[in-house]
Amino acid sequence: MSEPYRGSCHCGAVHYRVSGALRPVSYCHCSQCRKQSGHFYAATQCQTSDLAVEGEQHLTWYSASDTARRAFCKTCGSALFWRANDSERTSILAGSLDGPTGLAGGNHIFVADKGDYYSIDDGLPQYPQYD
Ligand SMILES: [Zn+2]
Ligand SMILES: [Zn+2]
Repeated sequence: MSEPYRGSCHCGAVHYRVSGALRPVSYCHCSQCRKQSGHFYAATQCQTSDLAVEGEQHLTWYSASDTARRAFCKTCGSALFWRANDSERTSILAGSLDGPTGLAGGNHIFVADKGDYYSIDDGLPQYPQYD
């Protein structure tokens, strides 16, 4: 699959499309991502200006910290987006994309915070915090 990429939450109240390029998928093992998603985050990323959201009123933008917000569907709870407050880019949860994405894994970040109930053995670069 290539541009435009499309995705949605589980219940379909929120749909989005991305008209530009997507970054390789970063796997974030920080405790915030694990709490919110139930495991670790798998996120690609786009320019926010390339992202068009339909059903924005069904999103909750949760201020997860002083520096970033996380968006999820009010109805079904699907985690969709992460955005640093001072950034022009938006992270997109890779699992919310529809169809084959053609994306590949890029790296693992915040592995210093990873859970003890799984191992990372895909050979991708691992960083204790940011890459
Ligand atoms: Zn939903
Ligand atoms: Zn994280």
